[in-house]
Amino acid sequence: MRRFDQYPPESEEETQLHAFFQNLKNGRFTTTRCEGCGKVWWPPRTICPNCITSNLEWVELPKNGRLKLYTVCQREKGVEPVVLGIVEIGGLHIPSKINASIEEIEEGMELFLEIENLEDGRVIYAFSKQE
Ligand SMILES: [Zn+2]
Repeated sequence: MRRFDQYPPESEEETQLHAFFQNLKNGRFTTTRCEGCGKVWWPPRTICPNCITSNLEWVELPKNGRLKLYTVCQREKGVEPVVLGIVEIGGLHIPSKINASIEEIEEGMELFLEIENLEDGRVIYAFSKQE
């Protein structure tokens, strides 16, 4: 039994979006584009909500974008707060952890993709100020 954790399952047995995580492991930030209507979706889909088709292809996104908005989550005093934000990339609004301090965070700032390796072999993405 898998205990609860905050990160999504990534294996081929657990998710049809396995390719997203595999691409991320290989340094590629990807999502799906519908081959019918051409719409690029975030998050990646298994079915296009416009066309109700599973004819989707993986497309690569830029690895940088702009911080649209953010919030600071302080779980308890003395613990480093976590910044969560919406990063605008190619017209998509992508929720993400932002690796930046409260002092340097600013709406509109340019952010770069960061791929973080979890201890169990999974990968997650975040964005930070440095390329
Ligand atoms: Zn479509």
